[in-house]
Amino acid sequence: MRDPGKVSIYHCGPTPYDVPHVGHGRNTLFYDVLHRYLEWRGLDVTLVSNVTDIEDKIIRRSIAEGRSCADVVAEFEAIHWSAMDRLGVLRPDHVPKATQYVEKMVAFIDELIGRGHAYETSDGVYFEVRTLPGYGLLARQPLDSLRAGARVEIDEDKREWFDFALWKKAKPGEPTWESPWGPGRPGWHIECTVMSLDLLGDGFDLHTAGDDLTFPHHENERAQAVGAGHAFSRHWTHHAMVEVEGQKMSKSLRNFTALTDLLDHTDARAYRLLTLRAHYKSPFDVSPDTLADAESGLDRLDAFARRFADVPAIPDPATVEKFRGFMDDDLKTPQAVAVIFDAVNAAHKGDERAAATVFELTGAVGLDLKRAPQAVDAETQRQVAEMDDARQARDFARADAIRADLVSRGWVVESGPSGTVVHR
Ligand SMILES: [Zn+2]
Repeated sequence: MRDPGKVSIYHCGPTPYDVPHVGHGRNTLFYDVLHRYLEWRGLDVTLVSNVTDIEDKIIRRSIAEGRSCADVVAEFEAIHWSAMDRLGVLRPDHVPKATQYVEKMVAFIDELIGRGHAYETSDGVYFEVRTLPGYGLLARQPLDSLRAGARVEIDEDKREWFDFALWKKAKPGEPTWESPWGPGRPGWHIECTVMSLDLLGDGFDLHTAGDDLTFPHHENERAQAVGAGHAFSRHWTHHAMVEVEGQKMSKSLRNFTALTDLLDHTDARAYRLLTLRAHYKSPFDVSPDTLADAESGLDRLDAFARRFADVPAIPDPATVEKFRGFMDDDLKTPQAVAVIFDAVNAAHKGDERAAATVFELTGAVGLDLKRAPQAVDAETQRQVAEMDDARQARDFARADAIRADLVSRGWVVESGPSGTVVHR
């Protein structure tokens, strides 16, 4: 750590141009578990996660729909945060936006030109990769073998295929800012370098994101920082993607699954448990089966919590130590969760200290257990009756809409042959 007792983390955040998909849920749960766990360990965490509010996909949508980029960002950023709130993801300490940092990015690009690492062309300013020894370090590959994995924008005017845009000169219909190279907008990679160094300082502790960003995004972030004479992140951690019903999730495969849909039909805590049951470096499958399995695990935890709600005992240090051992060893959450479930079993067999341990350890990873069933209010009872009427009338769209509303207000909804019951 750079400063004893303190951890500084930068996490590449969302580009709000569409509704978040289930992969974004894993992405934020990854940093949330890390954040909560490090704080539970007594460390003072500063977490920065940006919002990319100027980018090709935002511009394309704004042009297609005839509205401003700011309008597109406002709509989808609000949806993003409301989904993250439902997932119980703590807000980062700082959420910088690219458009607030354009002036600092311009100064940084100017510095890179001055140091001989960047050059201007007819369509922008580019980073000259060959000038930076050690490029390819993060990707752990020599420069010439990286091409296969990189998306090369062929219409750009630059010296070599791997040079990347720091500044893009204005095109019709795009938002622009002033710069020494004329009006234009910053490239994507430069924002993370400038914002992380500005908010966390040189040599901050940890840079995180999904493993789809290792190359070229993180390689380029690091190259820019080093090129301008800064020590960049000391450590890097990349989490794996999610799969939807066995296939790598992507919009082109048409298996895009909106996170908000998932949260309308599943307890958000079950998705957190599903995430914890996979190591962050492993992909996991999101399907009705895996979600149902996570929900039944959650039911066991909630049933435990109702039974042992008033246990006054102190957690068992040996079990806490075992849990910590797994978490400290590269966040081995599957083993750590197994420790929790072993303690649940021990509690049911009469071990009171194990019961207190479960509450302590689920808290460390942000799993909020429901200790007491809550009384069902009159309005909710009326909705449940209306939902059963709709089911009987085979109006499943109506029944689903009511269910989604109940779930969004925190109720667990269980429908069986004898009707629907809710609890929370
Ligand atoms: Zn980034």
